[in-house]
Amino acid sequence: MPLRPELADEAPYGAPQLDVPVLLNVNENPYAPPADVVATIAREVAAAAGGLNRYPDRDFPALRADLADYLAAESGVRVAPEGVWAANGSNEVMLHLLQAFGGPGRTAVSFAPTYSMYPEYARDTHTRWVTARRADDFTLDVGRAVATIEAEQPSVVLLASPNNPTGTALPAAAVEAVLDAAARVQVPDAPEAGGRRAGAVVVVDEAYAEFRRPGTPSALELLADHPNLAVTRTMSKAFAAAGLRLGYLAADPRLVDALRVVRLPYHLSAVTQAAARGALAHRDALLAQVAELRAQRDELVAWLRGRRHGGRELRVADTDANFALFGTFADRHAVWQGLLERGVLIRETGPAGWLRVSVGTPAENAAFRTALTEVLAEDVAGDTAHVTNEQEG
Ligand SMILES: *Cc1c(COP(=O)(O)O)cnc(C)c1O
Repeated sequence: MPLRPELADEAPYGAPQLDVPVLLNVNENPYAPPADVVATIAREVAAAAGGLNRYPDRDFPALRADLADYLAAESGVRVAPEGVWAANGSNEVMLHLLQAFGGPGRTAVSFAPTYSMYPEYARDTHTRWVTARRADDFTLDVGRAVATIEAEQPSVVLLASPNNPTGTALPAAAVEAVLDAAARVQVPDAPEAGGRRAGAVVVVDEAYAEFRRPGTPSALELLADHPNLAVTRTMSKAFAAAGLRLGYLAADPRLVDALRVVRLPYHLSAVTQAAARGALAHRDALLAQVAELRAQRDELVAWLRGRRHGGRELRVADTDANFALFGTFADRHAVWQGLLERGVLIRETGPAGWLRVSVGTPAENAAFRTALTEVLAEDVAGDTAHVTNEQEG
């Protein structure tokens, strides 16, 4: 078949979906929606079902207003509904961003290790993909980030905060330094105004923002001063609605208008819009577990930091998300496999030697701790000393 040559050796993206008792591999919220939330969603969807002979509202103003209200309650930052955009998961939102602002002859920049879907959006939109390394502790090396932006003159810069798979959140000063460097870019084929070409769009992917520790800022606070900033969020993680497929962003309304050009007509079904609004009406109940998950996360990190392996303590990256990256193991696959044999599925991802575990219910976290204790006692993991900190993930 006449497949595009750059797709020839590509496999579909996705973590293994295995039937295992303890699923700690894709950073979902482990708690199912409570019965009253399910009832509201069912009622809203039933009402939408009565109008399914019609196409849905293309611009879904009611859902955008609900999302703006949610952001104001969660972060204290009020954005206009016209500055909110949504799609089937924040993955589709970010694809819209690359469709509008990337493209042939253009470059997107990010900082590895980071989310492994980003290069796929670039590939699918024929955008050149460039990464620079993060610092060894996975924070952003601001000097290197600014130098990379100056050298590459990208039209899009992607920053995940908290980052996946490391959990690292960015301080406001780091995001501002990137925004300033991006504003100084002159994208070669961009429109000109006042004698200079437009700068790069900066996307801050805040899929895990609700899990940030007290004092960690949201990039939403920077929106008012930065028309080229887009902050993406999702209902898949903290909001306990990964199955819904609803991601969104906040940005200047002019940026949102550009995304309306590239979206497919009626991309957000009436059923999705109704279900999302039903879930958002219960935001307090759905977010009630987030504080508990944060506390469980901190406990899990402290426990992991107390483990010894190969004569040294395990390393655990500081995390503001609902997962932790830990290691390092000469044979991480053996550790992953040992956990799987004990009914615990985690994710073999990130830089060489590291593994990522999502925070589950207290019972699931206990099962993980028991299984990992057994696996480390078996000493299948090899000697930590052989692992170099290669950042390929
Ligand atoms: C899970 C995740 C998302 C969310 O994807 P959805 O399409 O909204 O489910 C976005 N970015 C990162 C870094 C993630 O880990």
